[in-house]
Amino acid sequence: MTANLLDFDLDGLAAFCERLGEKRFRATQLFRWIHQKGAAEFDEMSDLAKSLREKLKSTAEIRALPVLAQHISSDGTIKWLFDVGGGNAIETVFIPEEDRGTLCISSQAGCAVSCRFCSTGHQGFSRNLTVAEIISQLWFAEHFLRKHLSKSDRIISNVVMMGMGEPLQNYSALVPALRVMLNDHAYGLSRRRVTVSTSGVVPMIDRLGQDCPVALAVSLHASNDALRDDLVPLNKKYPIADLLQACKRYLHVAPRDFVTFEYCMLKGVNDTAAHANEIVKLVRLHGEHGAWCKFNLIPFNPFPESGLIRSDTAAVIAFAKILSDSGIVTTIRKTRGSDIDAACGQLAGDVNDRTDIHNRMTKRRIIPIRDVDRPVAVDKEDTVNDC
Ligand code: SAH
Ligand code: SF4
Repeated sequence: MTANLLDFDLDGLAAFCERLGEKRFRATQLFRWIHQKGAAEFDEMSDLAKSLREKLKSTAEIRALPVLAQHISSDGTIKWLFDVGGGNAIETVFIPEEDRGTLCISSQAGCAVSCRFCSTGHQGFSRNLTVAEIISQLWFAEHFLRKHLSKSDRIISNVVMMGMGEPLQNYSALVPALRVMLNDHAYGLSRRRVTVSTSGVVPMIDRLGQDCPVALAVSLHASNDALRDDLVPLNKKYPIADLLQACKRYLHVAPRDFVTFEYCMLKGVNDTAAHANEIVKLVRLHGEHGAWCKFNLIPFNPFPESGLIRSDTAAVIAFAKILSDSGIVTTIRKTRGSDIDAACGQLAGDVNDRTDIHNRMTKRRIIPIRDVDRPVAVDKEDTVNDC
């Protein structure tokens, strides 16, 4: 069977090279060709012996996912839909900003967690993506963007596992994929700039801390268990107290000294002052002064089947003020790419390329809360990008 080399982290590739009777260091050369230079053909790999290239041609390939559609938003955000077979497509979103380029990657086709406010959750679960399918999104986007922008240096500086799917329910593919992202012979991303976002698979948060600690974002969305049971059904298995304790344990090994909580603002459901005060209590219960976490308030991206409505801006600002007045660093997420349905929890749209992204790199995404008495400090390095 032909091996897809996008499926391997460096150790896996070294083992593959050994099976071909080659020295392990060949794997590093090969890894660089694939991930740093974006080579898809073995004949491009000029410093590999011809005999090895022939051997590779008969046993391996570099097979990325076929692109079904590409949409470029008026704010420079780019969304790709990739075909993963069986009538399923996954989405990947690139978000350009002045000081970084973030890629939002999918981990599953569909999702089994079935959160009420998420259109992926409403689709149901199709299957886990393979390592190759996860890495293919980064491989394609990085090398496409370099060509598109005529640049030879790295374009993607941050990865967020915030596309379709629950990454911690596809753990065995997630970890090798993260290792490829972090490896200096591949994408060389900093652990602080790779974020796994989870709805709260508690045992897997602990395992991630042991196997491959990266930045952690947790989709909280509720201030008490009754509400969270309804919005994020996984809460019935791993309630809020267990989840917050797992977050605190994770901080012992995490590359950052805080966890980011995502909170999707749903009108009349989770956005009142009472909810905000409950959050403050929860955060205090688990650590002094709320300094161990940050909150990212996400305006809900509506879709008809959800029956839910986006909170009013005034409610979002009032909610943020309660959190920030209590000492919790809080940001309100600016929706990016909404004209192409690239915003969180949204899927395919059909919009033509209508921007020059060179001119759009200056846009900032995080909106510091300026309308409140005490502006919230925003450390751009420390904020999590969205899609
Ligand atoms: N399954 C993981 C990662 C993918 S979802 C998780 O739940 O964390 C990425 C983020 O988008 C999560 O915070 C999720 O709650 C949020 N999200 C999903 N649907 C949304 C919607 N319709 N509007 C706003 N945010 C949404
Ligand atoms: Fe799955 Fe995350 Fe959507 Fe919930 S929010 S259904 S966990 S993708």
